[in-house]
Amino acid sequence: MSNNQQITISDEVKEFLKSNHKLLINGEWTPSSSNEKIEVFDPATEQLLTEVDSGNAADIDAAVAAARKALTGEWSKITSHDRARMLDRLADDIEANFSALSEIEVLDNGMPLELAQYSIAGHGTTLLRYFASWANKLHGQTIPVSPAGAINGESLTYTRKEPIGVVGAIIPWNSPLIFAILKLGPALAAGCTVILKPAELTPISALFLGHLIQKSGIPKGVVNIVTGYGETAGQALSEHPGVDKITFTGSTEVGKKIVEASIGNLKKVTLELGGKNPVVIFPDADLEKAIPGAARACFFLQGQNCMAGTRLFVHEDIYQVVIAGIKEMAEAFTIGHGLISGNDFGPLISKTQKERVMSYIDLGREEGAELLTGGNSYGDQGHFVQPTIFSNVNGDMRIAKEEIFGPVLCAQSFSSQDLEQIASEANDTPYGLSGSVWSQDISVAHKMAMLIDAGQVSINCHAAVDPAIPFGGNKQSGWGREFGAEGLEAYLKTKATTVIF
Ligand code: NAD
Repeated sequence: MSNNQQITISDEVKEFLKSNHKLLINGEWTPSSSNEKIEVFDPATEQLLTEVDSGNAADIDAAVAAARKALTGEWSKITSHDRARMLDRLADDIEANFSALSEIEVLDNGMPLELAQYSIAGHGTTLLRYFASWANKLHGQTIPVSPAGAINGESLTYTRKEPIGVVGAIIPWNSPLIFAILKLGPALAAGCTVILKPAELTPISALFLGHLIQKSGIPKGVVNIVTGYGETAGQALSEHPGVDKITFTGSTEVGKKIVEASIGNLKKVTLELGGKNPVVIFPDADLEKAIPGAARACFFLQGQNCMAGTRLFVHEDIYQVVIAGIKEMAEAFTIGHGLISGNDFGPLISKTQKERVMSYIDLGREEGAELLTGGNSYGDQGHFVQPTIFSNVNGDMRIAKEEIFGPVLCAQSFSSQDLEQIASEANDTPYGLSGSVWSQDISVAHKMAMLIDAGQVSINCHAAVDPAIPFGGNKQSGWGREFGAEGLEAYLKTKATTVIF
């Protein structure tokens, strides 16, 4: 079995990969003070792609100083209309560089090209334009008040929405460019300044974005990009007294470290963390939609997706037919390098991630779940793992509760008509990020959606994403919401001013 297919990389991307990748601090590409490098590999071939500078605490310090200065400098004087125009210009430039960015995303992360193209064009630029359009609509309220000493009707309070300040944005590797945009869009629309710390495994598209930001008219120091490891650059950013807010997407384990590190100056913190999301299929569901929907819910991005629907609950009357349909789809994926046309299932991000997923597959076997398909690594190079389905899983098994972050579906049937009973099983994890309900009975579908303890539930689809849909987790899946008006609000603070006439 070989997945050793020849890929073609465009000259433009080859040139970019060859360049000397420094840190973007105060508008200048600056070498890291340690002179240390991080090697970046293609997860599908394990070949070295490039090296980037490894930023440390001193570099974070310089980036925070630049962001603090920029917060009250030229950036604060620019009109909100111009802020919107700059974000739109950045979206135009992303579109103009769509091909190179998509290719980089595939090489860096391993996702199939079509998915990279869809995520950049379908989500990335739409997201940026959505937040650009908010920039000139931020306003407070006028409130009639009666503080002591005021004659009734001769006092009022007005509120202003101000940028929350300097934002540290720490992002994961599973959709690197989209997460960079998701943090920058609302932060810049709100008038904040940012230090972006990409994941050490996938820093390249953020650096490419840095070059586009330099051309967008956004003043120097407003966006700083420090590539580096989590324990050094990420930790220094979370602890830094000059940072007002941390917005973090990543694991629950690191999210807790960020909360601890932020305590020193009581930073505001938004956390988008892990998930172990239920997909509940009722007997009256439209199986033509539910079967492919459930397969995609789990295997999209090889299951390396916080919203992945990895816990499948199917009514016993349709269990066999649903499982057989998902198995057929799982076995039909074409595994291989994302740049080879037709491949729709890529590698996991790293050797460590592959070993972690394989250890959960071993655990599933030990716990007595029935392995229906997959269960092995794939090919002679790259971090590929076959799409894997366990049947007859029960809620006591660790594979049913813990986030695997790989292509492993844990399926079980239910016989109950009692929605609360079904929901209590669906909710039996420490997470509460996402979930989906499949039924044609609107009453059942809406009641079940209400009972699922998650920040986002989809009916007859899974993980619906749109810039206007608030997104975030309950329980240990996070704090706060991103996307939509609430996502923007997280980068603003309210100032109340009261006047007695
Ligand atoms: P991770 O938590 O290991 O790393 C995320 C980021 O945190 C990286 O940039 C890393 O360098 C940094 N980091 C690591 N240690 C740090 C520390 N001590 N201080 C500060 N920063 C530190 O997560 P990952 O492995 O990159 O991503 C996978 C996880 O992310 C999964 O749990 C997944 O569910 C979660 N995720 C959540 C969402 C969401 O929106 N809820 C989206 C994508 C991924």
